[in-house]
Amino acid sequence: MYIVLLGAPGSGKGTAGKVIAEDLNLAHISTGDLFRENLKNETPLGLEAKQYMDKGELVPDDVTIRMLKSRLGESDVVNGAVLDGFPRTGVQAKSLDVMLNEMGAKVDMALNIDVPFDEIVERIANRRSCRGCSEIYNVVFNPPKQEGICDKCGGELYQREDQKPEVVQNRLEVYKNSSAELINYYDAKHVLRTEKAGDKAGRTSYDVAEKIEKEIKNGWN
Ligand code: AMP
Repeated sequence: MYIVLLGAPGSGKGTAGKVIAEDLNLAHISTGDLFRENLKNETPLGLEAKQYMDKGELVPDDVTIRMLKSRLGESDVVNGAVLDGFPRTGVQAKSLDVMLNEMGAKVDMALNIDVPFDEIVERIANRRSCRGCSEIYNVVFNPPKQEGICDKCGGELYQREDQKPEVVQNRLEVYKNSSAELINYYDAKHVLRTEKAGDKAGRTSYDVAEKIEKEIKNGWN
């Protein structure tokens, strides 16, 4: 099974995606994490991606698609995957269909986690990431036990360049411009599922994950 996550950056799709992937025994593939890993290891791919990531812009399609294709070929993708942050353009969505078709698979669900933008801006501004293990904290709602230090690995917590307010605004603009096309694309294929989340909706991304898992176990689609 292949599930595509369509929420905005900061919508909680990463959290929901990890839970769903673990519970349903699917690989969790985040293109943002793959780029950050490449950046940390200073690979040519990482250095190329950095110039776009730091500004909150999309990395060009050809580079991103190549990276995803190679990741889909890894051994943990036996039962399928939850794709977090891919596709982000119409070109990526079409090429994903081609890649999955070659593997005898398809996108079974496109899960759109819908959180109001004003909530997202505040959420991302409060985020801190661990330099060691990439664990994410919220300094208000989910602070580490010791300020600035990761509970899990003792690594240093920092605010990523793309979590700074001016970059967040740009990332949300980029998302706004590309999401409608993707939502229409998957709606036309009858695999779109939209779930509201956030403070106003009174639902967390864990609530969304739980509901979706139940439905999948009961035979979604
Ligand atoms: P994320 O953590 O998913 O918000 O991704 C962080 C950054 O990585 C984005 O702002 C983009 O610069 C880049 N990125 C991640 N996924 C993609 C994608 N599918 N297409 C283009 N750029 C991407």
